Amino acid sequence: MQENGRDEWRRHMALRVGVIGGGQLARMMIAPAVELGLEIRVLAEAEGMSAQLAASAVGDYRDLETVRAFVADVDVVTFDHEHVPQDILRALVDEGVSVHPGPDALQFAQDKLVMRARLAELGVPQPEWAAVHSTGELQAFLDAHDGRAVVKTPRGGYDGKGVRVVRAVAEVQDWFDALPDGDALLVEELVPFVRELAQQVARRPSGQMVAYPVVETVQRDGVCAEVIAPAPRAAERLVEVAEEIGTSIAEGLGVTGMLAVELFETDDERILVNELAMRPHNSGHWSQDGAVTGQFEQHLRAVADLPLGSAAPRAPWSVMVNILGGPAEGTLGERFDAAMEAHPDAKIHTYGKDPRPGRKVGHVNVAGDELDDVVYVARAAAAHFD
Ligand code: ADP
Repeated sequence: MQENGRDEWRRHMALRVGVIGGGQLARMMIAPAVELGLEIRVLAEAEGMSAQLAASAVGDYRDLETVRAFVADVDVVTFDHEHVPQDILRALVDEGVSVHPGPDALQFAQDKLVMRARLAELGVPQPEWAAVHSTGELQAFLDAHDGRAVVKTPRGGYDGKGVRVVRAVAEVQDWFDALPDGDALLVEELVPFVRELAQQVARRPSGQMVAYPVVETVQRDGVCAEVIAPAPRAAERLVEVAEEIGTSIAEGLGVTGMLAVELFETDDERILVNELAMRPHNSGHWSQDGAVTGQFEQHLRAVADLPLGSAAPRAPWSVMVNILGGPAEGTLGERFDAAMEAHPDAKIHTYGKDPRPGRKVGHVNVAGDELDDVVYVARAAAAHFD
């Protein structure tokens, strides 16, 4: 028995996780990988990226040979982003590579139209939507929805790029002009939401799932600015419904690793799915310091098919504030001493990126008993980097 147990442990010790993409999400997997005794290797897009420390290769994730060479030395492949093309993912799977999440699941995070169609089949609550191939079809949708709608490019959007609120078809004429024949844009009703929420679930290949508490996300200019965990003033039913939506999507789409479900809460307490991410997500950064198992550790445990950890909060409230853009003058590093000195209760995370307007360059986590205090400290600490 003892011998077997040790062999088991050795097997895990040797497990090599390959992450495609060298951004901050890959960077934040490095410390938990070390703690878990996993080897982590990153395929970065360029030199000097956030996850440089673990970058074993630099190259283009859209090139099959580059990706093949990278995965030859790893046991499990996962991602920092969802942009690796389907044909590459399918080639890897056909060659016997363990890819998590796999292409069958990932397609629903890669294409918002494919996602909407599948969620409709699963009976998950979502905004009214349609695939529109022409300005005529968009006009018909506008006419049926008080003359307003949200138009989205199905692929490649992030941080609000590829999302436009429109009152007239002319406002997305450029998108229609650029649309390949036969393709469509996604149009959705403009949801009169009172706030945005996010539900995260971790799922192992063997099916075990762990749900995090539903959180409130605050967006500014289409970019996540703050997260409060758990979501304040959330009725018990809402918490249950959010968890049920998250677990049914994770199971229904066969997601492995972390799943984030972005949600709208309406004034009549309905919740509707906005979009999905199948990787650690900005809405879960609070869990690094505020939950028993942070999302980066949990993602690694899930993709390596190790038992999942508890997602229970460590404190009544956790708040995450993004550091967006960084200082207008000087470097992020110059602000560190003052921020740390003034706010010893704040956990400051940086991504090793150069400041640029609007760019996510770091975040601050604070946890505690009183929400007002926690929000105050998190904002004050983050403000040192403005
Ligand atoms: P991205 O993929 O760029 O993150 P999202 O689909 O999440 O784009 O949309 C970005 C933001 O636009 C959302 O966080 C929300 O504030 C707003 N939004 C998106 N869809 C709708 C909708 N149907 N109704 C109202 N607001 C929306």
